[in-house]
Amino acid sequence: MNSKIRVLVRVRPQLASEKAHSSRTLQWDDHMVRLRLNNASAEKVYRFDHVLGPKSSQEDMYDAAGVEQSIASVLEGYHATLFAYGQTGSGKTFTMEGYSYERTNSTASRERVQSKANVAVASSRVGIIPRVIINLFDAIQTASVLKNKTYRVKCSCVQIYNEQVRRLILSEAHLAQILDLLNPAPTLHCQNRCLRLRWSPEHEFYVEDLTMVECESAADMMGVFHDAIKQKIMATTNLNAASSRSHCIYTLYIESSDAENPGVVTTTKFCLVDLAGSERIMKTGASGVTLQESIGINKSLFVLRQVIQILSDEASNGGTALAKSHVPYRDSKLTSLLKHSLGGNSITIMVVCLAPSDLCFEENLSTLQYAARAQ
Ligand code: ADP
Ligand code: MG
Repeated sequence: MNSKIRVLVRVRPQLASEKAHSSRTLQWDDHMVRLRLNNASAEKVYRFDHVLGPKSSQEDMYDAAGVEQSIASVLEGYHATLFAYGQTGSGKTFTMEGYSYERTNSTASRERVQSKANVAVASSRVGIIPRVIINLFDAIQTASVLKNKTYRVKCSCVQIYNEQVRRLILSEAHLAQILDLLNPAPTLHCQNRCLRLRWSPEHEFYVEDLTMVECESAADMMGVFHDAIKQKIMATTNLNAASSRSHCIYTLYIESSDAENPGVVTTTKFCLVDLAGSERIMKTGASGVTLQESIGINKSLFVLRQVIQILSDEASNGGTALAKSHVPYRDSKLTSLLKHSLGGNSITIMVVCLAPSDLCFEENLSTLQYAARAQ
């Protein structure tokens, strides 16, 4: 298993509001991105295995990221993590989920209902997570016949905001409690209290009282995923925090056992992460954000960058040339939770999202510098 981090770049289409600021500073082809400094001849060129332009489809993205092969590896016992990195508005949620959730009663929600009803990847808009769900259950069906194995699949979804972990999948009991209230919206987050991170020798880091839902089929899991998204929208509205400042971790747990050895159960994880916007909070002039919050908000991202950097350096050195560095997983909630599925024998895929606008020059520069070093 090659533990190198797979880095892909995706440049989203220009939004109508950006037409006046075309992307003279940003150019790309299939394997490189060129950033030209404004009013200067100097330019920086970054090379990547895959660069997907605005015309790329969700399917192109899925194929280039090698997600299907990763699912096969997960069924063989490897952990995997795929995350979307980039500034707010660069296309992370579009890539991971694939709908425009801000517009709740638009075509987007109709598409959502449709795809929930017939599960097939009905719309070309659907993103990586629903595709993984469908592929995973297909792959399990094949593997259980071919390899005589039994699989159980569970999922969980949490959001990390300001170093606080909250569940996005609620159990029946939580839901009943919330629906009982006359005006559920403002109190939702009080009910859905912060979850504690625990450590045990067996599980290492885990979330106490995490809701995990066992799913029998892709349709089942798609339903749970849609509920989590609804919850995310409500939670971020109530918390006075844009969803752009929280990390959303959707985890699939695959338990497998052999017919000959049914007592021995192996569990592997596939974590799908829609990261918080990579822009610095101070720069956004975020109103109402306390100093404590602004430190907490970017902490997980800051530590994730460090962790990825160290893992990438180790992979480049063959993992042996240098004395093993200390990897600061414990320094943030996000990296603690991802510890199992980052580095070592795990598959790590990073989709780096860019906005093709001259106004995003500074953020594109820092995103590309980071992405280039991570691969
Ligand atoms: P982020 O999650 O990084 O903040 P979004 O995924 O919400 O960004 O994308 C910002 C806007 O751009 C949304 O309106 C989204 O629908 C649109 N968008 C992003 N990527 C694409 C794409 N590849 N094709 C079409 N529209 C996109
Ligand atoms: Mg988003």
